[in-house]
Amino acid sequence: KNDVQDFGIEESLSELSQLVDTAGLLVVGSTYQKLTSPNPRTYIGSGKVSEIKSAIHALGVETVIFDDELSAGQLRNLEKIFGGDVRVCDRTALILDIFNQRAATHEASLQVSLAQMEYQLPRLTKMWTHLERQAGGKVKGMGEKQIEVDKRILRNQIGILKKELESVRKHRKQYRNRRFSVPVAVVSLVGYTNAGKSTLLNQLTGADVLAEDKLFATLDPTTRRVQMKNGKEFLLTDTVGFIQKLPTTLVAAFRATLEEISESSLLVHVVDISHPLAEQQINAVDKVLSELDVSSIPKLIVWNKVDKVGDPQKLRLEAEKRDDVVCISALSGNGLQEFCNAVQDKLKDSMVWVEALVP
Ligand code: GDP
Repeated sequence: KNDVQDFGIEESLSELSQLVDTAGLLVVGSTYQKLTSPNPRTYIGSGKVSEIKSAIHALGVETVIFDDELSAGQLRNLEKIFGGDVRVCDRTALILDIFNQRAATHEASLQVSLAQMEYQLPRLTKMWTHLERQAGGKVKGMGEKQIEVDKRILRNQIGILKKELESVRKHRKQYRNRRFSVPVAVVSLVGYTNAGKSTLLNQLTGADVLAEDKLFATLDPTTRRVQMKNGKEFLLTDTVGFIQKLPTTLVAAFRATLEEISESSLLVHVVDISHPLAEQQINAVDKVLSELDVSSIPKLIVWNKVDKVGDPQKLRLEAEKRDDVVCISALSGNGLQEFCNAVQDKLKDSMVWVEALVP
């Protein structure tokens, strides 16, 4: 990688692992190599290619994910070398997969599809050169013509999508479908990937701050219905996390996946307070939030992973001075009661705060 100065290799790979996990895949190993410039054919050097190939066979690897954007040629060459059914992809394709899984609104789906098509466009060569090879070179040139046809089709589709997006934006409100006919408070978790949002979401399932497990129904993989002992309830929903190295081509798609939060009653900004770049991460999240139409929504800040900081007591005192911060350890469950109380406090004035729907 050539941007190591502001973002370390280890850190970048650990973020990539986190993203792989989010996409529902299991990481079995990772490796990196320092080169003065990427190999134009295979991105990594030939020794590294062999090393990975051996690992693929030894570990039964199905997918190899690169932390940088690969060219169409590099993707093709690597897939050919690794052989079989091994899928090679890059960070951008992985992030697009995640956005695709998480796109909750019609507009977000369109925006992600658009980004996927724009990503595919320069990488179309793959399929057709493969056919050419199969035909033993007898149809030389056929692939080339077909690529042009395909590119034209894809460009047309991109044009259509862009028009559709424009019209959806004009009628945005119309497309927002409420999850429930009875209004219920929706609390959205935002924050960096790895901040502990899903740990918090999952921990609340078993925590005794809640009435009973069975009342904690999972609505979809990222939303929980939380009912507290006092009978009050709210929906707690996770969002796609912020990413340090978000390719610029994906910024619009990322924003679109976040747009649903403008319907929330409360935003909970989860911060990994033990992270050396916590301050920068907070600012980056705030910057994007200020660009979305959410300034009127109340916000609660959660300093998570207090178990990992050197002086948790000092942190707690600092948090106590502010009425919008709670300290928790999502992992150990420490502070969950305070978290729920704070949520309740913030929602107090909210119009959509209703008594429990579940008897
Ligand atoms: P998300 O990307 O925001 O959903 O983050 P996750 O919930 O997946 O958490 C990322 C990593 O941080 C996981 O390895 C968690 O086990 C870990 N983690 C989450 N909360 C805490 C915490 O309070 N303390 C510590 N030490 N680790 C935590």
